[in-house]
Amino acid sequence: MNIETQLRPSVIAEPEPETMIERIARLAQSDLAPLVQDIDQKGHYPEDFMRAAGAAGAYSAHAPMTTGGEIDIESAVRAMSAVGEHCLSTAFCMWCQNALAWYIASSENQTLKATIGSKVLTGEALGGTGLSNPMKTLFGIERLKLKAERVPGGFSVTGALPWVSNLGDDHYFGIVFSLPQEDDAMVMAVADCGADGVKIIANDDFVALDGTRTFAIQFRQAFIPDDHVLADPITDYIPKIRAGFILLQAGMAFGLIRNCIDLMEGVGNSLSHVNCFLPDQPSDFRETLAALQDEVFDLAKTPFDRSDAYFVRVIKARLAAGEASVAAAHNAMLHCGARGYVRRGAAQRRLREAYFVAIVTPATKQLRKMLADFGAA
Ligand SMILES: Cc1cc2nc3c(=O)[nH]c(=O)nc-3n(C[C@H](O)[C@H](O)[C@H](O)COP(=O)(O)OP(=O)(O)OC[C@H]3O[C@@H](n4cnc5c(N)ncnc54)[C@H](O)[C@@H]3O)c2cc1C
Repeated sequence: MNIETQLRPSVIAEPEPETMIERIARLAQSDLAPLVQDIDQKGHYPEDFMRAAGAAGAYSAHAPMTTGGEIDIESAVRAMSAVGEHCLSTAFCMWCQNALAWYIASSENQTLKATIGSKVLTGEALGGTGLSNPMKTLFGIERLKLKAERVPGGFSVTGALPWVSNLGDDHYFGIVFSLPQEDDAMVMAVADCGADGVKIIANDDFVALDGTRTFAIQFRQAFIPDDHVLADPITDYIPKIRAGFILLQAGMAFGLIRNCIDLMEGVGNSLSHVNCFLPDQPSDFRETLAALQDEVFDLAKTPFDRSDAYFVRVIKARLAAGEASVAAAHNAMLHCGARGYVRRGAAQRRLREAYFVAIVTPATKQLRKMLADFGAA
């Protein structure tokens, strides 16, 4: 041992390396916060941020592309929530990307994992999920919109989906189609926006979340290669992915609620003499948020639990997250008053955004139907 090493005090610890969640929080503050008004009012899609978040590890914690890798849904949710504190539109784009990664990682398709899958984890490839319609179909709410037939080397798919987000000409998204010639058996696969026969069509303007690149999609005998199949048939696969799909959405809710609490507290100094008469206070939402986080992070430890009892807990947590989002944003509006009601005011934006948590599939009404179907309403 040289003299320098001997003299170095042993108590000086190396600084802890920045965690992935801290990196995402810092990136959101520096690169996303300045864009929030353009995202909300001009429908700007924050593609650079989406790619940087991938490079910083936001899409990989929950979706190991190698067998036996750790599945850390909690970290994925925490990273999304750090972004959701600033912008729900972007947090939703992250959920879309995370859902696509989740589908691929949960499949047995090693080719897809090694190709598109590994690029999705780093943000090199971007994409989303067209599973609203199948999720509603599987719970008896609507009919499947995509149909297909087997052709050499894959499937020929026809039909249309009204909304799929986080898309672009070179993006990918998960779909489910049925095979009328095979008793309507269902297959899940990854579609390529740039493939022949796939057309992305601009949608209506939304009241919020316009920066999500949400398109209607037309499939006209679009070829989906066997290499892109996630599950054929989907029978065992959907129960495997459904809890993760739902739990990951909590990231949107947690970030939004945290920011709504901050907004309420931010006006506390000047308005507490009158805001104290409002029945719901920031401390109430802190308690609600803490309880929700505990439940979601506990559920996130066992995403492949197939028991009804577990899935009912997932549905209840998701329902509570949607309801708490709307309640927190409503109260942010009431606490902030007129300063939240101006066009660039945060509270009115958060309120418009909050309703999305409650209406995105599985929407509040679907969740309540699911609970009724399980006899758990
Ligand atoms: C901003 C935004 C982004 C979304 N992103 C995605 C996504 O990435 N992936 C995804 O799968 N889903 C996406 N959706 C759909 C979303 O998940 C829900 O399915 C949708 O909000 C409606 O759900 P609901 O259960 O309330 O259904 P309801 O509104 O009760 O019924 C929905 C059905 O009504 C019909 N319908 C109603 N309005 C229209 C319309 N204007 N045009 C065409 N058909 C209509 C369609 O058949 C549709 O399936 C998005 C929706 C929005 C608003």
